[in-house]
Amino acid sequence: MTSRKRSPHDFIFKEELGHGSYSTVFKAVDKRSPNKIYAIKVCSKKHIIKEAKVKYVTIEKNTMNLLAQKHHPGIIKLYYTFHDEENLYFVLDFAPGGELLSLLHRMGTFNELWTRHFTVQLVDALEFIHSHGIIHRDLKPENVLLDKDGRLMITDFGAASTIDSSLSDNSTRCNSDSNSVNDNQSCASFVGTAEYVSPELLLYNQCGYCSDIWALGCMIYQFLQGQPPFRGDNELKTFEKIVALDYPWGPNKRLNNTTSPINPLAINLVRKILVVEVNERISLSVIKKHPYFAKIDWNDKVKIWRGIWQ
Ligand code: ATP
Repeated sequence: MTSRKRSPHDFIFKEELGHGSYSTVFKAVDKRSPNKIYAIKVCSKKHIIKEAKVKYVTIEKNTMNLLAQKHHPGIIKLYYTFHDEENLYFVLDFAPGGELLSLLHRMGTFNELWTRHFTVQLVDALEFIHSHGIIHRDLKPENVLLDKDGRLMITDFGAASTIDSSLSDNSTRCNSDSNSVNDNQSCASFVGTAEYVSPELLLYNQCGYCSDIWALGCMIYQFLQGQPPFRGDNELKTFEKIVALDYPWGPNKRLNNTTSPINPLAINLVRKILVVEVNERISLSVIKKHPYFAKIDWNDKVKIWRGIWQ
């Protein structure tokens, strides 16, 4: 960090990387150190106010600031924030590998090696997020980006929530007061991606670290099967499938039309994560001891964070 407040004039804005519901992201170069490439998320103030997104932008900034205090390779780092009359700017790590979802779509499914690689990195990054008392609440392959070597980086903390430690009966519970479900309305008011929402949010309007673990289970399934486990013709049908734990297993189908059976240990892991009853759902520390990860040394961060394309 520098002592002087940075401004948009400190950067050369390059091509657009993509846009979200209230922001556009550009590749950018720091004029002072041209070798350093960033992604700058530009949020129009007018748009944020009009679309009532102030709360989410604030959550995103505060959460990313908190996580940026200690570097973790699996989290997109927020370097600077500043604003001018029209926009808010978030200067972030640039993820040249794009979204994990795009990679998955290109490949159809991930093989055993890649599934384990990405799952191990997700578990390590998620553990880091949770150790800061933060629940991501919107984990999905679109919100996981890749660096040039195929290491993943979790992003999009606009739906995050911090654990309320005053809830002494269950320290992992948080209030669902953010943007996933409107407290006073039915699931019809759900905004976001229905496929990864946890049953406790649907049934009891509660979420906790365990809700991120549920989303992790949905992602592991998706790596192996090519699509999320719960997908109905509409959101309500998707929700019905989630609470009924209604999801099929098929072979691992590759885009070249070859299929291979799925490792029963991977199926067993997903089954232990996708459990409706929160208290029976496997925790991250138990996930790490699952036989699917028998060969993983969780203390060897260098090996965990190697790139798949290196
Ligand atoms: P929404 O806000 O509607 O949920 P979103 O989270 O995808 O959408 P943004 O965070 O503005 O919206 O990101 C828009 C697109 O820009 C993303 O889909 C991604 O492809 C790209 N992008 C975002 N952050 C980065 C980054 N750090 N590096 C490279 N590309 C990025």
